[in-house]
Amino acid sequence: MDMLDSYKIDLKGMRTDVDVREYVVDDKFFAALECADIHDGRLDVTLEVKKTAGAYRLAFRIDGYVCVPCDRCLNDMKQPISTEREMRVKLGDEYDDDGELVTVPYEVGVVDIAWNLYEFIALEIPLSHYHNDGECDEAMMNALDVYRTDVRMEDADGAEIGGTQHNDEAQEIDPRWSELKKILDNH
Ligand SMILES: [Zn+2]
Repeated sequence: MDMLDSYKIDLKGMRTDVDVREYVVDDKFFAALECADIHDGRLDVTLEVKKTAGAYRLAFRIDGYVCVPCDRCLNDMKQPISTEREMRVKLGDEYDDDGELVTVPYEVGVVDIAWNLYEFIALEIPLSHYHNDGECDEAMMNALDVYRTDVRMEDADGAEIGGTQHNDEAQEIDPRWSELKKILDNH
């Protein structure tokens, strides 16, 4: 069975008006979705599916954390997530999602909530996020300071200077440099 199959809700086949499901979202979930932004975490999710007149109300309760790189030192940090979200789904002629209401064709009758759940989680990560004071990787922060100073000097001179060699040395010491360079190069 596909790891994500349990996130497909058979609305047409619902035997009762209310169906409550529990999920544990972790690295396997993020890996199955091939998410670049979030690769690890642990969240308890309760989903209540309620059949109402003409539509289904899906209410999510999400609690736990995800691992994302800290803005200050780039090491992984645990970002707590605690939220409640809702989506409405109805059966109709063809697929549609207007942001408020998802329409699933009658003949399919199943809604896949994996990406919706991922988005609910991702939306809860603050734009800037970092470790509590004192929990950052000091060595990495010092290395970052040196690197950033070098970048500024190169930018100012428009030419390569002594600092470049320093970067190469640092890169051999710590494999995270390649990741860091990618991030800085994109700015
Ligand atoms: Zn940090």
